[in-house]
Amino acid sequence: VAVSSGGAAPTLARLLRERLEALLPERLGALARFAERFRPAVRAVVGGKARRGFWEDFFRGPLAARVLAGDEAGAAGRMLALVNAPVGKPAAGRVALVGAGPGSADLLTLRALQLLQEADVIVHDRLASAAVLDHARREATRIPVGKRRGAHTLPQSEINALLVRLAGEGKRVVRLKGGDPFIFGRGGEEAEALRRAGIDVEIVPGVTAALASAARTAVPLTHRGAAHAVTLVAAERGDGSAPDWAAVAALGQTIVIYMGVGAAAAIAAQLQAHGLAPATPCVVVENATLAEERVVAGRLAELPALIADHAIVGPATIIVGAVVALGAVAAQPAAAPLRLAAAR
Ligand code: SAH
Repeated sequence: VAVSSGGAAPTLARLLRERLEALLPERLGALARFAERFRPAVRAVVGGKARRGFWEDFFRGPLAARVLAGDEAGAAGRMLALVNAPVGKPAAGRVALVGAGPGSADLLTLRALQLLQEADVIVHDRLASAAVLDHARREATRIPVGKRRGAHTLPQSEINALLVRLAGEGKRVVRLKGGDPFIFGRGGEEAEALRRAGIDVEIVPGVTAALASAARTAVPLTHRGAAHAVTLVAAERGDGSAPDWAAVAALGQTIVIYMGVGAAAAIAAQLQAHGLAPATPCVVVENATLAEERVVAGRLAELPALIADHAIVGPATIIVGAVVALGAVAAQPAAAPLRLAAAR
């Protein structure tokens, strides 16, 4: 792939080259050579218009993925079979469970970006931000299935069935999930359902809300002498039961609470009842990395008031522990809760 500005702006050309390089898979050259090897054979058996379709399917399909993953020998065997029987079952679909990160598109992984740009269908939930979806292939069908306050949510079993059905149709499906797919995202259930249906699943990790919130507030979740463990805990559970706050508090280390805004009063009371000092520093990060990001910091005892006074309603994490005092949000007295402007 070559980029030239015809001498007008070589630096711009270089920057574009760098961006392209970041987007393109590493073994692209090997893939081109692989295809070249099979060109005569394909030309001999796949006629006219069908040939372009054949190659499109090839470059988007599992065989090309195999070559890109370095398994040329395995791919060659399958390719021979394909060339010898070019009509038959449509290519098998695939599903990737992709972490979309906390919202800002620049926190996507390169792998996530590649998959978004190859996808036929993107099944996404509410936490997958518009900024991230903007990076998806334009022709890809987008299917929102996510939770939104007051709006209809597809039950998990139907999401699982949808993914299985789409893959069964031969589609390249990206299941885009906020943050990381395996942190309070029910990604495990989806992966299990797909595996049970015999469908290939790729898991692409994403920046989970706890890590994004910590970065945005410069709070080191672990820190020599202050915390050697961090607990990520969901305040809400599907079955309505509460977490074991005694066990969480007993560690005496950093705690990051997901889905805790609505239950802040109970959380603060429980953690104090189980031994955390009322003055333990805490910070609430709402919409971390998004334009609407807000940060409020204080002490554990005043956590419910902080959330109420600032009308925190969006997705937010609550970080509790000594390390909070090391961040850019040193705990403030209740009278003057610190509100940082987004520090971009
Ligand atoms: N899989 C996601 C979590 C989904 S559970 C992840 O790894 O981040 C939903 C909860 O995640 C929200 O209630 C909130 O606690 C947290 N969350 C998600 N996005 C967030 C963001 N941008 N800022 C702060 N918290 C966020």
